[in-house]
Amino acid sequence: MNSNAVLGDYSLEDYAAYMLSIGESAYRAKQLFQGISQGIAIEEMSNLPKAVRAQIKEDFFAPPVIVETYPSKDGSSKFLYRLHDGNLIEGVYMPHVYGVSLCISTQVGCRMRCAFCASGIDGLARNLTPGEMLGQITAANKLTAATVTNIVLMGSGEPLDNFENVVRFLTLVTDESGLNISRRNISLSTCGLPECIRELADSNTGVTLSISLHATTDEIRRELMPIAQKYTIRQVTDAARYYFEKTGRRIVYEYTLLKGKNMHYLDAKRLRDLTKGYAAHVNLIMLNPVAGKDLRGCTKQEAEQFLKRLQDFGISATLRKSMGSDVAGACGQLRRKMLQNEDF
Ligand code: SAH
Repeated sequence: MNSNAVLGDYSLEDYAAYMLSIGESAYRAKQLFQGISQGIAIEEMSNLPKAVRAQIKEDFFAPPVIVETYPSKDGSSKFLYRLHDGNLIEGVYMPHVYGVSLCISTQVGCRMRCAFCASGIDGLARNLTPGEMLGQITAANKLTAATVTNIVLMGSGEPLDNFENVVRFLTLVTDESGLNISRRNISLSTCGLPECIRELADSNTGVTLSISLHATTDEIRRELMPIAQKYTIRQVTDAARYYFEKTGRRIVYEYTLLKGKNMHYLDAKRLRDLTKGYAAHVNLIMLNPVAGKDLRGCTKQEAEQFLKRLQDFGISATLRKSMGSDVAGACGQLRRKMLQNEDF
């Protein structure tokens, strides 16, 4: 067994094997697994004998803890989590009429360095383990006394750059004896790594795939997203079609509106061609300006005009209701502020 595991990394079966390995009965695994799923700290799992708790503390790192919450005027909250090694990550908690959704991080930092995004500014610090992804949800449930029903993997990090851990997390979080969150209620957002998209399709996780497109020509996309040096838009949309064919799930394209870059009439037209022949939806995002980045967003009215243009072309499209912008809602902004000790 992995001696560097975080509490929450294991399945119920793994914990059963662990309990046997420390001379305990396998039924203790169920108590532990349920305690973890409820976000209870190991010290407080009073149904486990003290000696067992002490042993577990020695064998596993603690899951993430929410150290700050920043409530927004719009009802959402930004959470700052601290990991066992002192690293900080963030998440956004969004209550809706249909349930509660939580935006979680998959890495500390990010390797992708997209021009508009704060997460990649300092590069990648490390991958999160499955238990650290799960722990973001259990900590949120515990703190708010509500139950997260929907998850979006849209916080810091590129989920498909941490493929194995993310797929394992998806298995754990949908486990009936654990949090039991429906695959239908999970969205994974990627900058578009074609091989990984195909592998995800084949792995039958069945989650909704969101792809950060942000441009309709390779030239503009390369300006915004370094990953576009490696893969063309065509390679990305071919993989998206494959994902749709394999899973039957509609593809969502994320498109952050940047004035003078990607809002031309021809962009609307090209979007129509890129989304033709399979179920696809375009989600327009208003730029959340990041300190030190000189990209220009657009007004609500301009966004609505572009949306109308897409709809006139017969494209299924919406303008994302942005939440938490008054509390550093965009990926990586909060962690950066904390690292820079900026006033908040
Ligand atoms: N790495 C993944 C998921 C994280 S980002 C991805 O690239 O999809 C989630 C979405 O927010 C992406 O579409 C990303 O491009 C977008 N985003 C990041 N920073 C933003 C900002 N400052 N304003 C608007 N959208 C942003």
